[in-house]
Amino acid sequence: MTTKTRSGAASSGHDAKSPDEYAQVPMIKTALPGPRAQAAIALDEKYVSPSYTRGYPFVMHRGRGLAAEDVDGNVFLDFTAGIAVNATGYCHPEVVKAIKEGAEHFQHMSGTDFYYREQSELARTLAEHTFGGVERRVFFSNSGTEANECALKLARWYTKRQYVLSFRGSFHGRTYGSMSIGCSKAIHRNHFAPLPAGVVHGNYPYAYRADPHLKTPEAVADDCLAYIENIVFKKEILPEEVAGIIVEPVQGEGGYVVPPANWLSGLRRICDKHGILLIFDEVQSGMGRTGKFFAHEHWGVIGDIVTVAKGIASGLPLGAVIARREVMSWPPGSHASTFGGNPIACRAAQVTIRLLDEGLTENARVVGAYFKQRLEDLARKHDVIGDVRGLGLMVATEIVKSKATRERAPELRNRLELEAFKLGLLILGCGENTIRFCPPLVVTRGEVDRCIELYDAALQNAVK
Ligand code: PLP
Repeated sequence: MTTKTRSGAASSGHDAKSPDEYAQVPMIKTALPGPRAQAAIALDEKYVSPSYTRGYPFVMHRGRGLAAEDVDGNVFLDFTAGIAVNATGYCHPEVVKAIKEGAEHFQHMSGTDFYYREQSELARTLAEHTFGGVERRVFFSNSGTEANECALKLARWYTKRQYVLSFRGSFHGRTYGSMSIGCSKAIHRNHFAPLPAGVVHGNYPYAYRADPHLKTPEAVADDCLAYIENIVFKKEILPEEVAGIIVEPVQGEGGYVVPPANWLSGLRRICDKHGILLIFDEVQSGMGRTGKFFAHEHWGVIGDIVTVAKGIASGLPLGAVIARREVMSWPPGSHASTFGGNPIACRAAQVTIRLLDEGLTENARVVGAYFKQRLEDLARKHDVIGDVRGLGLMVATEIVKSKATRERAPELRNRLELEAFKLGLLILGCGENTIRFCPPLVVTRGEVDRCIELYDAALQNAVK
């Protein structure tokens, strides 16, 4: 039975057993959703904004590593990591220690008006970790969308130009500036106009969905690059008016689309030619997830501005904008945030980055490659897996009616999420018809094997 604590918050009443004792993951012992989950969902439906996109009724209680226990004591294997956020898994002891220590020092001091070392030390760490060997400065926010707002302001401020180019299929956040550059789902913009002006869109090289006359992925990227030069810059807006090109090195919400090898270097060439800043949105693809600290390192291309959030602080809200020192030279008062760069979040980020350096980024590379290969094996068995793609632990399967037609199967994708949930596996969709896997970077081969078994079973149940 749910009991009330003094604060009025619900406690599930089954805390006696420590989560470190999870004998088996997953372990489903009630019908789903269980009684406490049903009560929590009823409360949520009464009081919480219905704008969120819950695909299935999982109600989190607590977790360890990849084990996510719901309020009824069911234990799930979590391959979502809270949308690519819990880089070090649930409750990594070193992250918990850093958070506790930070809370005992101070919870907040506005970095807008005062100094604290947690912020400046993390700025140094991020600057030194950013690819390119150039001097960098860092601005701290609370989230990915705020990081992108900062990047947009900075690019426009530095270049004194008005326009920004972004890509169809991209997602950069929900605030007005980020919404203006995002272009992945019409619902994100529905009835929210007018959006800030000054945005033009290009095409992202999505080889699996490209025109078949473009024979290779590189030809698809060349076509998208030519579109910028020949259509956007000739028919819509002169390049001299473009402040920045913002791009996800691997497109996230748009469907975990990994671009061909010539894509980012082609964008860099266009930017250099026209004096445009190249902005990498690494909010989802960064922080070790793809097997490198930042995904753009896979292609050896240097960004002028890099935005980051999600995995940076193992679940604490934090975002950052890392820019070439010369670019981030705006005067006092031009940009700030009360909460951005919270000291406890900064401590959690320092530990997270140390853990990445000590092996988690490498784990993402090695276990991610193994995972992708296991998914490719599974794709040979299931005709509805049209494409397997990804880098490191940012991997996905595109769900289609059949390999031959490549026709999108969004209903089947949604059923698949639900069937996986029933078996104790947490996964998430992205794009129109894709299932993404973005587990914590602590994931083991054994956990990947278990995920594959469950996904295989879920596929069988979903296609019935
Ligand atoms: N940029 C990318 C690439 C993202 O994937 C997301 C979130 O999914 C965002 C920005 C927005 O981040 P937030 O939800 O923290 O505002």
